Amino acid sequence: MAGEPQADCLFCKIVEGHVPADVVRESETTIAFRDINPQAPTHVLVIPKAHYPDAASLAAAEPGVVADILTEAGRIAADEKIDDHGYRVIFNTGAGAGQTVFHAHLHVLGGRGLQWPPG
Ligand code: 5GP
Ligand code: ZN
Repeated sequence: MAGEPQADCLFCKIVEGHVPADVVRESETTIAFRDINPQAPTHVLVIPKAHYPDAASLAAAEPGVVADILTEAGRIAADEKIDDHGYRVIFNTGAGAGQTVFHAHLHVLGGRGLQWPPG
């Protein structure tokens, strides 16, 4: 069923506590943890606790949780003090755009200069 945990999903395992993660925030619907391979001084992933393969399928099924993810991203940026200088939020969607984990996740990146456009 849509949103149910998937046995073969790494981020579902983090939600369930079966794989450890450096958790920075948690809400009723989301969890946020540091990326294992950070691309900036602050690199946090904000994910829905429910399993959806990407942002669009999450938005179609549970639009309120997309808002929760962005609200959490803003709080993380404030906590990490990257909001003054500026930060970036990214949903890589599809393998061609660099998505490697098919459980929706928002990257929150900051703490250094960020080029535009990204590669
Ligand atoms: P994507 O490439 O799908 O947009 O992002 C997946 C992200 O998950 C990558 O930035 C990668 O470094 C991160 N990642 C992969 N495995 C783990 C893990 O076991 N723990 C954590 N904290 N991050 C992970
Ligand atoms: Zn999952």
